[in-house]
Amino acid sequence: MKLPFIVIVDDDEQVLRAIQRDIRTKYHHEYRISATDSANEALELIKELKLKNETVALFISDQRMPEMEGIIFLEKTKEIYPDTKLILLTAYSDTNVAIQAINNLKLNYYLLKPWNPPEEKLYPIVDDLLDEWQAQYKPDHEGIRIIGFQWSPKSHQLKEFLSGNLIPYLWMDVESNPDAEKYLVSTNLNRDNLPLVILKDGTWISDPTFPDLAQRIGLKQTASHKMYDVLIIGGGPAGLAASVYGSSEGLKTILVEKSNPGGQASSSARIENYLGFPTGLSGADLSRRAITQTLRFGTEILTPKTVKNIRLQDGYKITEMTDGTEVHSKTIIIATGIQYTQLGIPGLDKFTGAGVYYGSASVEAHACKNEIVYIVGGGNSACQAAMHICKFAKEVNIVIRRESIKKTAANYLVENISRTPNINVLTHTEVISVEGDKVLKNITLKNSSTGEEKTVPAKALFIYIGAKPGTSWLNDIVLKDEKGFIITGGDLLKEKSFNIFWKLERKPFLPETSVPGIFASGDVRSTAQTGISSAVGEGAMAIRFVRKYLEEM
Ligand SMILES: Cc1cc2nc3c(=O)[nH]c(=O)nc-3n(C[C@H](O)[C@H](O)[C@H](O)COP(=O)(O)OP(=O)(O)OC[C@H]3O[C@@H](n4cnc5c(N)ncnc54)[C@H](O)[C@@H]3O)c2cc1C
Repeated sequence: MKLPFIVIVDDDEQVLRAIQRDIRTKYHHEYRISATDSANEALELIKELKLKNETVALFISDQRMPEMEGIIFLEKTKEIYPDTKLILLTAYSDTNVAIQAINNLKLNYYLLKPWNPPEEKLYPIVDDLLDEWQAQYKPDHEGIRIIGFQWSPKSHQLKEFLSGNLIPYLWMDVESNPDAEKYLVSTNLNRDNLPLVILKDGTWISDPTFPDLAQRIGLKQTASHKMYDVLIIGGGPAGLAASVYGSSEGLKTILVEKSNPGGQASSSARIENYLGFPTGLSGADLSRRAITQTLRFGTEILTPKTVKNIRLQDGYKITEMTDGTEVHSKTIIIATGIQYTQLGIPGLDKFTGAGVYYGSASVEAHACKNEIVYIVGGGNSACQAAMHICKFAKEVNIVIRRESIKKTAANYLVENISRTPNINVLTHTEVISVEGDKVLKNITLKNSSTGEEKTVPAKALFIYIGAKPGTSWLNDIVLKDEKGFIITGGDLLKEKSFNIFWKLERKPFLPETSVPGIFASGDVRSTAQTGISSAVGEGAMAIRFVRKYLEEM
């Protein structure tokens, strides 16, 4: 554990030396002692200490200093360290000021100079104050802190980004957490500069871009090798499984992910149908396990990096990223899954992340405590989200156009929902408009049977209405079906142009695309059976064919 600080400030060199010596003699084993002759310098120091998440147990300040009076200095320290004990060093003539400070500033003690012998006049007082401080002190979170507005889209994205990359953080809502404001004082920023990220070493970034933040927190941004055996695009269950099998079988493997590894599965509040986890596990937990496993085997993960194109050169594959970087590999597995369909309501976009969320139940559920929440969609994902959020929210309403969720959700979910008193299913209903200022406030619902419209308060609207393939970035290098899913294996043989694009003696391998050595796995593959287990199976299987292809090369 890091030792707390005692900070001393006194412009008189002789007094400073004396108090520093006496305090150091008795307390240096349990406290770090910092002394300065300048009040302004001391204030800068304590801002820095706050950012580094250091604790200060005691401030000792002389009253008479040219830069500012001791009571002013101590008052300023309170803006940053409100619970630190305060001692004012005074001359006899300052007694009145000191007594006033006891009332106004909650000064803990005023010490008349000189204090000899310290065993009698100094140590008993300091012992007493430090004991009291220790008894009240609760250690702070030591990692990254995000300070922002609860309903700000950027704050939401930062939280998702860090949690998705398994980086623990402490979220501090500037409107409800009094400690949050102290970080603004320490960084000399104001609320317009939020969100603010304070890193473990006390440095900070205001309103960061993801690549900047990724770099600062040590996420890998550049490939280590010139050539890889396999490059995997997308870090969902398919991509992660492929990476685990690739690295564990000794292939030089790199995975590129545009946001955070885990894919859709990471936003699942509870996965109940994954083999080997009879009581279920959260998507975040599954992703955490998979990321740890693949890193242990030596996979390189580049994140956040968005792939924008693939080109071929002399039989090798070149993957281009949106930031202009490129990675070369012998094979590629495309595992870019699917992306949420947006709900087409005018004005909805401006609330995305500010009350409107696509698949973020696990990140935002706590913020819905005692609130009324709406979920659009009646599939498994929507129902899982409802089961998770209902543990926090006062009321969860599932909005569906159909007459029931029986045909769209798994049986166990239908049953659980019917047994949960704070979940309602609003059938034959759709959301037709949304309103709010900076954050979502109300939504208007329309019942298609009765035609009735009503506007209701809504703190959050979670949307789960299907998805489209994650191939909008992909040029025409591989064949896709009419919906944009990638065609592989035997299905390629059905294409009229097969003999034109396929020049090898052998037929395409099961997960192979129209380009030899480029494979597709998981939800992005045409005719794939969606779901986590299938994606994991497909990712693992693709590696078997990657090896076969490499043997051919
Ligand atoms: C809320 C929710 C709950 C679910 N619950 C279950 C469940 O309980 N059981 C179950 O079996 N299934 C469940 N599913 C479905 C399951 O999560 C998916 O079938 C599975 O995640 C598909 O895996 P994938 O790897 O193919 O694709 P995805 O999980 O979609 O992952 C694709 C990845 O590729 C990345 N990517 C996309 N484009 C690019 C690019 N250009 N560059 C770099 N990276 C890119 C994405 O960011 C993403 O991380 C759920 C889905 C959701 C949304």
